[in-house]
Amino acid sequence: MPTYEFNCEKCQKNFTLKMKIAEYEKKKFTCPECNSNKVKKKLTAFQTKTSRKS
Ligand SMILES: [Zn+2]
Repeated sequence: MPTYEFNCEKCQKNFTLKMKIAEYEKKKFTCPECNSNKVKKKLTAFQTKTSRKS
């Protein structure tokens, strides 16, 4: 499952979320720290370096 990076515009916290691509495209995200929905998605390539298979 890919990991996505976000940055909260309110508290400036960076956080990552793991989710399926379909979820990523549909969902709105909130900061786990302050619950703000003013989060920016950081455009990072899929992190394939940790290829853990479950
Ligand atoms: Zn925040």
